[in-house]
Amino acid sequence: MKVKGNYINGEWTGASSGKWRSVINPATGQEICQICDSTKEDVRKAIDAAKRSFYETREWRDLCPRERVDFMLRIADGIAAKKDELAILESRNNGKPLREAENDVTDAVHCFRYYAGIISKPSGEVYRVNKDFGEMHSYTVREPIGVCAQITPWNYPLLMAAWKIAPALAAGNSIVFKPSSNTPLSSVRLFEILDELKLPKGTVNLVLGSGNVAGQEMAENPDVDMISFTGSTPVGQSIAHAAVGNLKRVGLELGGKSPNIIFADADFEGAVEWAMIGIFFNQGEVCSAGSRIIIEKSIKDKFVKRLAERANAITLGDPVKNPDMGPLVSEEHMNTVLEYIEIGKQEGAKCVCGGERYVEGDCADGYFVRPTIFDDCTPDMRIVKEEIFGPVVTVQTFETEEEAVALANDTSYGLAGAVFTADGARGLRIVNEIRAGITWINCYNPTFNEAPWGGYKLSGIGRELGVHGFEEYQEIKQVNINLTPGKLGWYGEGGANR
Ligand code: NAP
Ligand code: MG
Repeated sequence: MKVKGNYINGEWTGASSGKWRSVINPATGQEICQICDSTKEDVRKAIDAAKRSFYETREWRDLCPRERVDFMLRIADGIAAKKDELAILESRNNGKPLREAENDVTDAVHCFRYYAGIISKPSGEVYRVNKDFGEMHSYTVREPIGVCAQITPWNYPLLMAAWKIAPALAAGNSIVFKPSSNTPLSSVRLFEILDELKLPKGTVNLVLGSGNVAGQEMAENPDVDMISFTGSTPVGQSIAHAAVGNLKRVGLELGGKSPNIIFADADFEGAVEWAMIGIFFNQGEVCSAGSRIIIEKSIKDKFVKRLAERANAITLGDPVKNPDMGPLVSEEHMNTVLEYIEIGKQEGAKCVCGGERYVEGDCADGYFVRPTIFDDCTPDMRIVKEEIFGPVVTVQTFETEEEAVALANDTSYGLAGAVFTADGARGLRIVNEIRAGITWINCYNPTFNEAPWGGYKLSGIGRELGVHGFEEYQEIKQVNINLTPGKLGWYGEGGANR
């Protein structure tokens, strides 16, 4: 089956290349369908449509706020009405267990509802200013940026689409969206929902194609006013370079290698369960994953033993049948993760569980990797430094609070981090010291549409979600009104009346 999948100026089209790419079910290695492979020319058409809709027809941008709220709520309802279908599609295409895909759909629905609500909230400030130029009223208005290009990764295909599309639309922008070629199917379905709702032509455009052709054009094109990207740090860096030409606004949500610090006084079983969620949830394909356990030496052996017991009990299988874990997203990514496991073994880390592909029963042809724990890790090891983005966790130990913080911050990333302790003041001290954008005390990974998401250091620029995520899609204009016209005396008494 061939899916055209480009949605440009309100029409479904194929790619001008006439080329197609396979979309694979990672649980079986079988092709699900083929998608069109866009050229730079196809992307330019989508950008032109977005540009015309924003700067010429202006229907979405000028829409009465109340009507824009209604549209956003109808999008949320449209997604909610297709929850089961979307969740199965996502589970098949990405490999995540069905219940996690269902949570993603629910979160996506609420993301559109959240940003529907923000449209009617205050959108500027008034300032008290000095009177050097006479009495002035100074205020700000927030305006849409214009044409926003958006590129998403494969780990949360539908949810990442919602995180980007909802705030951009709420702010009044026009968009060109590209999902990962591995996992485009839920995005195509989302755009079918947008099509049924008849948003003004050119407001939302979808292009399917490879990152280094279609994605590169989105980053470079001078008619794009903002590029928002979620993915790996190297690609984020290349996007920042490509965006320099017209100094378009850049939003980057990138990789991580996040510390999970556990003190001996923490609730033991609780810390084990959260550590499991931290690294094995979504197959470990989570940018904020707690991939570095940094634990107080006195409890390390007991903790690793218990964690390994729990990890060994994890079930793998067809994600639609709701095992604990599904396959990794692709053969290529599985091979990367397996290579890192080999590197860890060669570096002298002690593999205490997992450490191999899983090929039992009906998993034989899928891209399954057993949950893997490496004990006895040291800061110089590549498995400690580099993002693996799979179900692989490293364990390091500390004896003092200072040592725990130093190990936690010994990374070029800064997305997330957590601390487990019964000492409330210590928990706060530690999160104050962690150089990362998202932190947790006595839990790992909960996140909310209301709160800003993003990283320090090589983990990115800017924030998604919440009010901050909305403001990323807005320009700020300063307006100064002279309340005493004709009275300026800057060049002598009487001023303009002289
Ligand atoms: P990736 O290889 O960087 O790809 C991400 C997206 O960028 C895909 O749509 C890809 O398209 C596209 N792309 C690839 N090369 C490009 C280029 N030169 N120019 C423009 N676009 C390009 O990342 P991934 O492997 O899909 O996802 C995993 C990474 O994403 C991890 O590093 C993870 O930490 C990060 N991530 C971060 C967050 C966060 O919020 N911070 C969330 C999720 C994931 P194709 O698929 O067509 O190549
Ligand atoms: Mg990639």
